[in-house]
Amino acid sequence: MQKKDCVSIKFCRLCNSKNLKKVFDLGRTPLANSYLKIEISKKLRKYPLKLNYCNNCGHLQLTHSIKPSKMFSNYLYKTNTSKKNFLHFKSYANEIRKMFKNRNTKILDIASNDGTFLNFFEKKKFFRLGIDPAKNLKKLSLKKGITQIDDFFTMKKSENIKKKYGKFDIITANHVCAHVEDLNDFFNGVQNLLKDEGLFVFEISYRASVLKKNTFDTIYHEHLDYHALYPISKFVKKFNLNVVNFKTPDAQGGSLRVYVSKNKNSKNQKSIKKQILKEKKQLNLFNVSTYKKFEKKIINCKNKLNSLIQNCINNNMSIAGYGAAAKTTTFLNYFKISEKNIKFIFDDNKLKQGLCIPGTKIKILDPLNMNKKNIDVLIIFAWNYAELIIAKNKKFKKKGGKFLIPFPNPRLI
Ligand SMILES: [Zn+2]
Repeated sequence: MQKKDCVSIKFCRLCNSKNLKKVFDLGRTPLANSYLKIEISKKLRKYPLKLNYCNNCGHLQLTHSIKPSKMFSNYLYKTNTSKKNFLHFKSYANEIRKMFKNRNTKILDIASNDGTFLNFFEKKKFFRLGIDPAKNLKKLSLKKGITQIDDFFTMKKSENIKKKYGKFDIITANHVCAHVEDLNDFFNGVQNLLKDEGLFVFEISYRASVLKKNTFDTIYHEHLDYHALYPISKFVKKFNLNVVNFKTPDAQGGSLRVYVSKNKNSKNQKSIKKQILKEKKQLNLFNVSTYKKFEKKIINCKNKLNSLIQNCINNNMSIAGYGAAAKTTTFLNYFKISEKNIKFIFDDNKLKQGLCIPGTKIKILDPLNMNKKNIDVLIIFAWNYAELIIAKNKKFKKKGGKFLIPFPNPRLI
């Protein structure tokens, strides 16, 4: 029997509890990365986008999961495009590298992409293995001298890897956990391949940052989970693993990096406890009311932004956007901004140019066209690159153009 495209998630993905409470409803939106030509973009199928809060462990997750092949079949996300990202992963890799002094240290990177992260670990000292389902990326890794398996990481796959390569000193998985269908199976696989003294490090988007910065647009169907340290620290215990350290880097709009080992001893226990206490008390992350308040705040933001846009239109100003990221799809669809309000969206990714933001008829154009289009206001949808975009478009500002920054509160500068 064929599996349904859209399945409702009835249990908590971390603790299996059925005690889930719907806290934020973003309506129905098309899949964030389904860029299509203008003729068919509005006919895209829409799926429910809602969040459930787990009353048992404090986890936050989507109410529905979409068949992965629907989402990743036409993936136009190009890695390694921004310098900021590159530098983030470089310093992250350097930090881990320095923790392992021995030669022949073995590292496995899950969702290794084009091998950029593994390549920061020098060939002479490290045995580097990557695993990623994208077949086209395998070649790029090979060019860097990195062996890459083109497959999803599962418990079953970990058995094959163990037979061929043994266990690993370091396992990494960056910004992939929220995409994984079966997290239990995934962590069983990690447990299976990690040496007793080994370290598993993974980076995920941090729920605390989403709430603080109002960046609700990072919610889309590809991200099943919105993690915090407390539920994760309980979850890993199921696999006889322990959180031994954490960091909260600014990358990707605010991330949580978690260091996990089979060893219970950690000199960072105090700071871990302190952060969990902060999540509980100061940030109030484990209370349904926090998410209800968040929803209200976003509705306020929507009203404010739409009235700013309307003002500009009333003053005969023409508006465009900058940044056609996956999050732009959530943003425009939830805020009900369409081709009636915004003429174009500029984006450097050549693969997206000429196509439309899913669910709208707003065309994505090469930023080189900006001068010709007589734009008065530029909404920065790629808010994580706001500084860069403003610096790159000094001429636009000089000519009297204005930037509209949506978060944390919409404002014109
Ligand atoms: Zn739970």
